[in-house]
Amino acid sequence: MTEQIQGIREHMIINGKAVEMSHGERIPVYNPATGKVIAHQGEAGAEGVDQAVKAAHQALTNSEWTQMLPAQRERLLLKLADLVEANGDELAQLETTNNGKLLSMSYGLEVYSGAQWLRYMAGWATKVSGDVLNVSIPFPPNTGYHAYTRLEPVGVVAAIVPWNFPMLMAIWKMAPALAAGCTVVLKPAEETPLTAIRLAELALEAGIPAGVFNVITGTGEVTGAALTAHPLVNKISFTGSTEVGHIIARQAAQDMKRVALELGGKSPVLIFDDCDVEQAVQGAANAIFFNQGQVCTAGSRVYIQKGIYDEVVKGIAAMADQMVLGSGLDENTQIGPLVSARQKARVEKYIEIGQGEGRQVTSNTSVPEQGFFVRPTVFADVDIGARISQEEIFGPVLVANTFSDEAEAIALANQTQFGLGASVWTNDVNRIHRLVPAVTAGTVWVNTHNMLDPHMPFGGFKQSGVGREHGKSSVEAYLESKSVCIAYNK
Ligand code: NAD
Repeated sequence: MTEQIQGIREHMIINGKAVEMSHGERIPVYNPATGKVIAHQGEAGAEGVDQAVKAAHQALTNSEWTQMLPAQRERLLLKLADLVEANGDELAQLETTNNGKLLSMSYGLEVYSGAQWLRYMAGWATKVSGDVLNVSIPFPPNTGYHAYTRLEPVGVVAAIVPWNFPMLMAIWKMAPALAAGCTVVLKPAEETPLTAIRLAELALEAGIPAGVFNVITGTGEVTGAALTAHPLVNKISFTGSTEVGHIIARQAAQDMKRVALELGGKSPVLIFDDCDVEQAVQGAANAIFFNQGQVCTAGSRVYIQKGIYDEVVKGIAAMADQMVLGSGLDENTQIGPLVSARQKARVEKYIEIGQGEGRQVTSNTSVPEQGFFVRPTVFADVDIGARISQEEIFGPVLVANTFSDEAEAIALANQTQFGLGASVWTNDVNRIHRLVPAVTAGTVWVNTHNMLDPHMPFGGFKQSGVGREHGKSSVEAYLESKSVCIAYNK
């Protein structure tokens, strides 16, 4: 028996139509709070990928979409933002039921922020411009040159997203791509396909032409791999694990496809003894436990200056132990379930490893029997070389240790393969300006963590990825520059 939930669709959206297909068995979709199946999705496979990519390619060939004025594209994205908000109740319930996150987070991040990102990116459609170039070509005699750059859509975009912010990340990719005039084939994660399909339906309702935004479902190994390998795909925009990022980078290199990679992290939280300790305790707990720790920039390592170490660790552990676990639909819940049985097993394995690598300072109280719940867990005194200090757990597990001075804090912060986010907690303005350039991370927060904005570029150093999303750079990433050089008689 599947639950009756509003907004569930088991089809894909290809060329403006609902398409039912599955290459092989359909894949179950779960409610992580109950562990029950709520839908079955199809596996698009090579055939579904081919249909969707060809539709996206066709929509770029002298079509309604390519003839559209930038202002018309802007208006369609604004209309989509309105529709996302107008359908906010359904979308938020659907996201929470499929992903497990708190309903307030589904409203605030997937729906409200999703609409905010759509509106911001809509504005860029009318602001893309090349340059007029003052060139110095000296010959032949009596010849002048007018040179300029045009920015053209890169073409068909394959967008592949993970399950932790399903609709928001779909919007992070499709909104700038469409603002730039590209077309998109999006593959949501197999765990969380539901809101992306509704987003594609709303895009059609907004008037975005058929074929411009397609959503296909399926596993990474089959459908994702076929999508990244398709010869008509011009750009791959991927968010997910560093491991899969490597596979995709190799595929892109082989075909010379453009590629953007937003990958994993192990973001440090550096707490200095001059900070507001209460604020830092609260901030560090939120940095790791928000979205059950399933956040690429989760503050999963906290380093605390010696004098306040015990107080801060105790404070975070107390907050962790007091957190109420339950369904994201229940307004008293502070920690929802993890997304899947597989993710729960992965996080529990790391907790077991952690028991041999650090001192567990949180209690082991029971979790709800049904569903994929894991208690927030804190390990103190964990060495930088430990597996739980180095590997991305992607769950509510925090490692803590001390530092004595700035140099040691910086060394600890930078001593992983990742470089996505970091936060510094201090009230010393000089220290802030010394630390910001010294920490190797795409975003450094000061006295806050995990705050994002559509105008603020986001991405990683080192193994955390290549490229930046959001801001102007997001739209530029979906454009190719063409130089034009026109000779004229002087
Ligand atoms: P994942 O890499 O397993 O999967 C991500 C997506 O890639 C899914 O849609 C999956 O189906 C697809 N995929 C898997 N194998 C593929 C293949 N061979 N070819 C093409 N597509 C394939 O990651 P996950 O477990 O779903 O998500 C968690 C990871 O995502 C974490 O590492 C997290 O840090 C990362 N993440 C990064 C950011 C960021 O912006 N840097 C944001 C959120 C999550």
